This record gives sequence, structure tokens and C-alpha cells, in this order.
Amino acid sequence: MSNALIKAIEGAARIGISGHKRPDGDCVGSCLGLYNYIKDVYPEKEVTIYMESIKHEFCFLRYADQINHSFTDQKGHDLYVVLDCGDEERLGDYAIYLKKAKHIFCVDHHISNKGFGDEYVVEPEASSTCEVLFDMFDYDKISRECAEALYMGIVHDTGVFKHTNTSRKTMHIAGDLIAKGLNTSHIIDDTFYRKTYAQNQILGRALMESVLLMDGKVIYSVVTKEMLKFYGLTGADLDGIIDNLRMTEGVECAILMYEIGIDKYKISMRSNDFVNVSEVASGFGGGGHIRAAGCTLTGLSQKVLDKLLIPIREQLVAAGCIENETNVM
Ligand code: AMP
Ligand code: MN
Ligand code: MN
Repeated sequence: MSNALIKAIEGAARIGISGHKRPDGDCVGSCLGLYNYIKDVYPEKEVTIYMESIKHEFCFLRYADQINHSFTDQKGHDLYVVLDCGDEERLGDYAIYLKKAKHIFCVDHHISNKGFGDEYVVEPEASSTCEVLFDMFDYDKISRECAEALYMGIVHDTGVFKHTNTSRKTMHIAGDLIAKGLNTSHIIDDTFYRKTYAQNQILGRALMESVLLMDGKVIYSVVTKEMLKFYGLTGADLDGIIDNLRMTEGVECAILMYEIGIDKYKISMRSNDFVNVSEVASGFGGGGHIRAAGCTLTGLSQKVLDKLLIPIREQLVAAGCIENETNVM
């Protein structure tokens, strides 16, 4: 299984790589990890990453400057590798490259991924796509730069090794990557924890305006376009807010809604022990993992929230966290 990707790479001359929209640490880490591996081990291959712009804090990774943002490449690829992406829709406009690809290979860890492409390896137990990729690579051929990318992806999807997806295997892999000579505190501080003043301000504002529901088992906060404009930020600057909401004492399920268009909201959800937020998100066309998932919904914020609360409430009742008659407020 693990060599299927390598075999596909060896049989291809022209390779494309893409990850999901609004690329996060695991998406960028896995795409650049694979890109570095191919460049190091198969320098004769023509390989390109097609992806949206990445955050400046990820740009220290080798070859980050070579990410291609165009949709106009007409030549087609022998192999197209899709990473950290649960379905075609999440590729955004880069999905057009799948049409001309001779062979599509997906590597992912989203439980909502039903499998797409000609070949796919989806491991919901894995902390991250970077963890899945690590198993496919020959350890001796992993360069320090490739290891840096994979380590960064694992750090981000595990919330620095603290989420429940962090397994013994995850830690072993992280150790093996560290042995390649990584500056781990630089990667963790500079790509995960460091926030600008404005990012900290909007974090404070989102926490201040958050609301508890259902006996304090649910917390939500809404970030409007006006708020983003006021602080000069975009949705990409809101990372970390949802985890702060989840960490509120007594909370089982946290919801962050941020406005991406008129009455259009990107929803992030997290849970601690009981609510399967992937199931909730999948019910609205999104997806993710059991404890971290997302979707996009249109409508007035209160209506959107009401829709989300129905399946969440059902799950909380089924798990015995709240009584059936518990008032939403
Ligand atoms: P986020 O809340 O955006 O950090 O996303 C949490 C998890 O859910 C990540 O693994 C995402 O890849 C996944 N996810 C977020 N939004 C969507 C969506 N609209 N469709 C499918 N998966 C999503
Ligand atoms: Mn991701
Ligand atoms: Mn991931």
C-alpha cells in the first residue's frame, strides 16, 4: 500500500500536486513535503504544486516560493496527487487539473473522505496527511527540508501534539523527523503560536462576544466582515480562536462562524468528548474529523446557528450531556 504512491511517482514524468482551499499547516506541509521529496529523490521529474497563496509564516519552507497559482497549464499531468483534501470541491478552482490528469492519487486523513481519484490512501486514524506521507517515504531519503515540512504539518493538525489525534505513532514519527536536525521551537513558535497584535485583538473580541448555550455545553462566536475590516484582517487570521472557545470550562462543542460573503458563513466546529462534528458538518455539505470539522452555510447568522444547533443538540441529548428539555439558551 505505502509504495503505491512511490510507484505512481516513478512511472510519471509530469506530476502535479494540490491541497485544499485556504491551505492550513498540514496542507502546506504535505504538499511541500512531497514536493521536496520528489525534487530530492527524483530530480529528473517535472513537478509543480498548484495551490492558493500560503501564509507568510509558512514561507520559510524550501520551495515555498515555487508554488504555482495559475489555472492555465494546458499540458496535463501523468500523475496528479491530491493531499489533505476530503473531496473534489475542496480543491476549489484547481480541480480543473484533475480533468486532464492521466492518474489521480489522493492521500488524506479526513474521516469524511469517501475516496476519490484512481487510487487513494485515506487513514482517518492518522493525525495528519503528513503522517500518512511519512510512511510512504524512504526514511533515509528524507532531507532536513522535507522533514521540516512534514513536522510542521503534524504540529498544526495536532495543535502541537495535544489533540486526541496525537498517537504513539505520531510521536515516534515526530521524533524521527526531529532526528533530521530540525529547529522545532522555531517551527512551533513562528508558524503556530506567534500572532500579530491585531490577531490577538480579534481573538479577545471573539472571546468577549462569545455566547454559552445549552447549560454551557455549547459555545459560539460570530466574526463579521465589519470586524475583520476594522482590524484589517482576513479569515486566515482567525486560527486558534476556535481552540480557545473549545477550552472554555464545561464546554463540549464550540462553534466559530465567520462571514465570508453577504449572509454567508464559514463554520468551524470543535468538540471535546462526545459530539461528532464531522457528522454535523457533513450534514451541511462540509466535513472533517470527529473532533474538528467545518462547512459553509448561507443565511442570517441566527438562522445558520439554529440549523447547526439541531444536530448538535440531538447528539448532546443522546450522549446524556443535556436533558431533552434543556432550553437552548
Ligand atoms: P477548520 O475548522 O477550518 O480548521 O477545519 C477543521 C477540519 O474540517 C479540517 O480538517 C478541514 O479540512 C475540515 N473542513 C473544514 N471546512 C470544511 C468543508 N467545507 N468541507 C470539508 N471539510 C472541511
Ligand atoms: Mn487541512
Ligand atoms: Mn490535515
